[in-house]
Amino acid sequence: MFNRVGFKWGALIMALFLIILVPLAVLIDRIFANIYSDYVDASVEKLATRAVMQLEQEPVITSDRIDLMLSLSDDAIIVFDKNGKILSRSAYEFFEQDTIDAQWREPLENGEKSYTGSRTENATGARYHYVAKPLLKAGKYNGGVLVMSNVTSWYDTMNQVRYWTLRSILMAILLAFVYTMLVSWKLSRPLVNMTAATRKIAKGQDTKVVVASKDELGVLGESINDLSVELNNYRKNRSELLANISHELRTPVSYLQGYAQLIENGQYHSDEELKKYAHIIDTESVRLSKLIQDVFDLSKMEEGMMTFYKQAVDIEELLEGAADKVQLKAQQKNLALDVAIQQPLQDLETDGMRFEQIIINLLQNAVNYTQQGTITLRAFEKKATLMIEISDTGTGIPAEDVPFIFDRFHRVEKSRVRDKGGTGLGLAIVKALTEALDGEIAVESVENQGTTFRLSFPIHTFSTTND
Ligand code: ADP
Repeated sequence: MFNRVGFKWGALIMALFLIILVPLAVLIDRIFANIYSDYVDASVEKLATRAVMQLEQEPVITSDRIDLMLSLSDDAIIVFDKNGKILSRSAYEFFEQDTIDAQWREPLENGEKSYTGSRTENATGARYHYVAKPLLKAGKYNGGVLVMSNVTSWYDTMNQVRYWTLRSILMAILLAFVYTMLVSWKLSRPLVNMTAATRKIAKGQDTKVVVASKDELGVLGESINDLSVELNNYRKNRSELLANISHELRTPVSYLQGYAQLIENGQYHSDEELKKYAHIIDTESVRLSKLIQDVFDLSKMEEGMMTFYKQAVDIEELLEGAADKVQLKAQQKNLALDVAIQQPLQDLETDGMRFEQIIINLLQNAVNYTQQGTITLRAFEKKATLMIEISDTGTGIPAEDVPFIFDRFHRVEKSRVRDKGGTGLGLAIVKALTEALDGEIAVESVENQGTTFRLSFPIHTFSTTND
């Protein structure tokens, strides 16, 4: 639970909410309180100063004079003489006796210019803000003025504001909590589902993540689904490949075994026959080693483990060399081998050995699957692309086989291919090598008329040193 990403995010968002909301609430409260208390302070102070100023001008302070002053204000003004005797009637609201308590007058008697404070009437619960100032006569203490401002309603308002602020904050926190929980649940649920799906995929089970959104989580879900398809294809491919390999290995091995046993048991009648068996053993072992080499090459390439050594390669020289290598075989079959290379061809930055392997493979196939006619090797440049075409006038490939011709172990006619020593991996290797060397390969074929393989490689200009 605590390790869930949703919970962690939720907790973080909540913490942020609290960090912002709590100080905000305190700030609102402080601002309200300060504004009002500043206002009350100022008005009470003003009233007290005015009362003092007026009363100090009076030769004798009378209750009537005070009452007149009082009528101008909502606040209570308590006036007392230097003996503490209360002169204003309104004072009876606050003081039951005629004299004011020492605690109120002592600070003024001791020379204090003014003092302020708040008090609450226990009986009524009313709150007052007060300020006291001395009345002076000829610079000497002659009594005092105490202005009491009733701030009860304001306190009630303040409390109301506090109450609503607190309520709003609690509501906001609650909403934030619910929202966070919802979001984190929505966020972590697909992640939990995806984790479960990836575990299943790892175990080899066929499963799919339900993609419900188009956001990052949706994209992640789709990627997992793609990965699952890829992985399943890979698994299928691998087991198919293993099945194919063991099948392909079985045939030459059984030939080897069979003919070796014939020779061992002396089951031949002439030297001629013995030679024939030995020849079969020889061809089959060549086939076997070629098969092993092809499987090795292909798997290395598919795993991306094959290393390529690229350098500037003279393509003209390479193509002519490749043609020379199949020339003898073509001659033996009475096939013409036409080489038409555009002059001059730019050097290509590639792995010469692998490049030659592609060309020889295609030329050998052309010779193998052609009974009469011509094998043509053409090379030319088209824009910044090197084009190579290898065409023959041979058996061609049936239209239904063309799309699968580059698949591993795909053969058009199994029995016929055996005679030609093919492994069914040649074209798969050719395609993989071509792509590894940044090229493309395409095939065009008409049954009983011939086949053309087209290779194209981008020509990158590379730096040469002129010295
Ligand atoms: P193999 O080693 O058996 O020749 P390849 O992968 O090279 O395997 O070729 C696969 C199949 O494609 C062959 O079995 C053959 O039927 C067909 N093929 C390849 N090249 C040609 C061609 N030039 N003409 C006709 N068929 C061809």
